[in-house]
Amino acid sequence: MMVRREHARAVLALEQRLGESSVRTDEAALVAASRDESEADVVLPSAVVVPRTSGEIAAALKVCAEFGVAVVPRGAGTGRTGGSAVVVDSIVIDTTKLDDVKGIERQDSYAVVDPGVVTGVFHERCEGEGLFYPPDPQSSQWCTLGGNVAENAGGPRALAYGVTRDYVLGLRAVTMEGEELVVGRRTAKGVTGYDVTSLLVGSEGTLAVFTELWLRVIVAPPVVRTLLATFASVYDAGRAVEAILRAGIVPRCIELLDELCCASVRETDPASLPTNAQVVLIIEVDGDEARCDSLVERTGAVLDESQATAVLVAKHGGDRERLWAARRVLSRALRRRATHKLSEDIVVPRSKLALILDDVRAISEREGLVMPTYGHAGDGNLHVNLLWNTPDERPRVDRAIRALFEQTILHGGTLSGEHGIGVLKRDFLPLEQSPALIAAQRAIKLALDPRDLLNPHKVLPRISHRAC
Ligand SMILES: Cc1cc2nc3c(=O)[nH]c(=O)nc-3n(C[C@H](O)[C@H](O)[C@H](O)COP(=O)(O)OP(=O)(O)OC[C@H]3O[C@@H](n4cnc5c(N)ncnc54)[C@H](O)[C@@H]3O)c2cc1C
Repeated sequence: MMVRREHARAVLALEQRLGESSVRTDEAALVAASRDESEADVVLPSAVVVPRTSGEIAAALKVCAEFGVAVVPRGAGTGRTGGSAVVVDSIVIDTTKLDDVKGIERQDSYAVVDPGVVTGVFHERCEGEGLFYPPDPQSSQWCTLGGNVAENAGGPRALAYGVTRDYVLGLRAVTMEGEELVVGRRTAKGVTGYDVTSLLVGSEGTLAVFTELWLRVIVAPPVVRTLLATFASVYDAGRAVEAILRAGIVPRCIELLDELCCASVRETDPASLPTNAQVVLIIEVDGDEARCDSLVERTGAVLDESQATAVLVAKHGGDRERLWAARRVLSRALRRRATHKLSEDIVVPRSKLALILDDVRAISEREGLVMPTYGHAGDGNLHVNLLWNTPDERPRVDRAIRALFEQTILHGGTLSGEHGIGVLKRDFLPLEQSPALIAAQRAIKLALDPRDLLNPHKVLPRISHRAC
């Protein structure tokens, strides 16, 4: 009751500070802002604040801090682990109206952008200038750069180019108490002080809210070639990935779709896969003409030796897009198969790819669950999906997730490659990290947000929450 009264007062103060049009309390807005693309259980927020300037973000945080109200920063809500899901009484700060590409400094190879810029829009802006921003989450049509930085998002091209962290030179952020931090650099190198930029990248909205990002951009590779290889089994495909990397070939991506993924894609869009493709690898190389020719030839030879049943090569835009079609419809195709879908995001050392694929099959058979698996196989980063329809299946899903995580750790892997920990994986953190390391991270959190008001109950195993 006490909490609700504080929320009502905070909402009133926000309306006074930012104007009523920037503070939404209608049910449609509250419902839309309460969840992301995960299966996290949510509650409705008290309000959704939609700032239009970084100053308004700082003002909103100050008001919430004053009333002791928790805040959930939000981009486009495409997160997979409940990072922007509302799990305790909170006010949401929706950053999508801060969506300006403020400038691209070509000579110094960086761009200054608002956090709410849609990633795909930024890609197009860079391409228009002959430049390249490699991080390419497969949600790039919708997700925001702020959300990408908060999750340290990856994508297929991470294999050759790295993840979002490798492209964040610096940023402006506001802490829960409304303090602005200007972090990092705009220069090619710089090591002044602790690397707070790296700390904030991947902090999942728990340490500060980003208000401006300084992103590194590079020269676009002139030529790109795409290969699609089909296999009779996922193990052959897994071994082919290991063989390509062992041969010293570094494509810009190697994506895997297993038997269940290919079957689902075929049901949704039969034309997007070659007939008889059981399992698929999509491989892409880039560089100049000569390098691409050589990489295609060497990759093709390894694929032949690795029992590929067919290999297609595309040189030009439209043909290349056609080879990606199956990957593009995949998420939608899997969604159609069941009422509930959870996409896990484990990473194993690449040499353990075939082993973990074996584990996935064993777990799915043991629990009687459908577990289609795809992902950025070149990085050892697999999205193991769990599909189910009725609540009585949930205990088997939970057992399967735990078993998957235990096997991942056993193989020297990690619980998340790019989707983050959010709320869904928070309680599994001790499987991978020691109590001392978790305590150190908690100390960092409390140094920046002493009252645990910013995106509480996320990332770290539960701490006492004074706002609720
Ligand atoms: C179909 C589909 C495909 C996907 N493919 C990929 C993929 O290939 N690679 C990948 O990495 N991810 C992928 N994702 C996951 C998701 O798109 C990414 O995690 C993305 O970075 C989330 O961005 P968003 O704008 O939707 O953020 P949200 O989901 O709104 O928020 C994500 C996190 O960022 C925080 N946050 C948002 N904005 C700010 C800000 N300004 N300041 C501080 N914190 C903030 C939130 O609090 C939350 O913790 C996919 C998701 C879908 C649905």
